[in-house]
Amino acid sequence: MFDVLVKGGRLVDPKNGLDKVLDIALEDGKVVEIGEDLSSSRAKAVVDATGKIVMPGIIDMHTHMRTVMGHPHAQRMVALAGVCTTLDMAGPLDNILETIPQAGAGINMAILESANPHTTLSCARPDAAERQALIEKSLENGAIGVKLMGGHFPMDLDVQGAFIEDCSDRKAWIGWHVGNSVNGSNILGFRDAVEAAQGRFLHIAHINSYCRAQVRDELSEALEAIELLKANPNIFAESYLSPLNGTRLTIENDEPLSKVTATCLKKVGCTPNYAGMEEAIRTGRAGALRDNGVIGELLYGEEGVAYWKSQGTSTVGSFPVNPATSRFLLAQAKRDNGACVVDSFSTDGGCYPRNVIVENGLLLVQFGAITMAEFVVKASLNGARALALPNKGHLAVGADADISILDFERKKAYATIVNGQVIMKDGQLLGKGTTIICDERGVAALTKRGIRTIVKGALDPEAIKDRYIP
Ligand SMILES: [Zn+2]
Repeated sequence: MFDVLVKGGRLVDPKNGLDKVLDIALEDGKVVEIGEDLSSSRAKAVVDATGKIVMPGIIDMHTHMRTVMGHPHAQRMVALAGVCTTLDMAGPLDNILETIPQAGAGINMAILESANPHTTLSCARPDAAERQALIEKSLENGAIGVKLMGGHFPMDLDVQGAFIEDCSDRKAWIGWHVGNSVNGSNILGFRDAVEAAQGRFLHIAHINSYCRAQVRDELSEALEAIELLKANPNIFAESYLSPLNGTRLTIENDEPLSKVTATCLKKVGCTPNYAGMEEAIRTGRAGALRDNGVIGELLYGEEGVAYWKSQGTSTVGSFPVNPATSRFLLAQAKRDNGACVVDSFSTDGGCYPRNVIVENGLLLVQFGAITMAEFVVKASLNGARALALPNKGHLAVGADADISILDFERKKAYATIVNGQVIMKDGQLLGKGTTIICDERGVAALTKRGIRTIVKGALDPEAIKDRYIP
């Protein structure tokens, strides 16, 4: 007896060469049969996907799932967005693991612990012993690596380069929101980061955010980013599709706490201080994130200002600072062999309400900028390949039963199925708990905490360089 039978959808699975109407049967968390007209009588539950797209579960390669960023609903928000698996890009690991019983929505998640001079490090120039201890402790506690927070909390370039080397030696994933003590979160910081990697594996976070016309115009910045990625196949890159970014709105001593926030205020024509932030929120140029009890929502105008003040300015929020030109170019750029330049679609969402891989990604398909197969490769397969999860990113018999069902007409996720369980259907949340994707070094600690795990393969930079050609 199948646990779930997904009937009548257009199954799009580029890795297995499928793009046709087929039924797909799930049992014990795996795909067990694919075919035309599988009988409903063989299944405990049937999901009618007639007229819908059925694809391998979406993997959002950049989100924030902590429960302290304004609200605890990030997992719900990604499940509603059709996402089965995500890479949390900053932890805190402990916060996410502790809150799984209440905040879990049934998704899979890998986590990077932040390497942050204000929280997990003692200073901005940690020595080798401190760097390596952070990486090893993070892996043993269930993270798959660390994230450099250079854009928000810069360290010297040589220190961040040393982190990349330390991670490479330990086969740990390393992400970097670029920025260092000389160049910030922009195309110059990106260039520095590529150089600092010296050919080693590096996940550069949200490429689009370095193409916001901070140094030159966004078109030439995006073209430079594309050329840099083509020339440096050791770099794994994701790029998001929303105009909104996400950052802290906190003001201390009449200055934004985050350098990114100061840049955003200038970009939207406001001064980088208390009065400027108030003006930005009041006039709809910044939104403050509030918990509405179910999800996090952005507040603007007087309501937004009042909320921001009520929190003593210590809130997070979003600015519409991602130009369409760079988002569009990065979304569709190809390497000379036809592989995607930017490996994955991401959102930098989760707790931020901009989980729009489906909404904006399907618009790109409709526009003709990418094919449906390319959408699936960027929204699922490439993330699975990079994370060394061979049973995800495709739907052959034996693959993990992670499926996203999309309504192409409405550009919305219709259902999210993870490990053979329907965790979201037609806007209704049905999932609980969280499965943590970890390195084999993290299994013991997670198991001790009673957390279900999926053990990823070892980081394989050579396999990542060998890109999938849609
Ligand atoms: Zn982020």
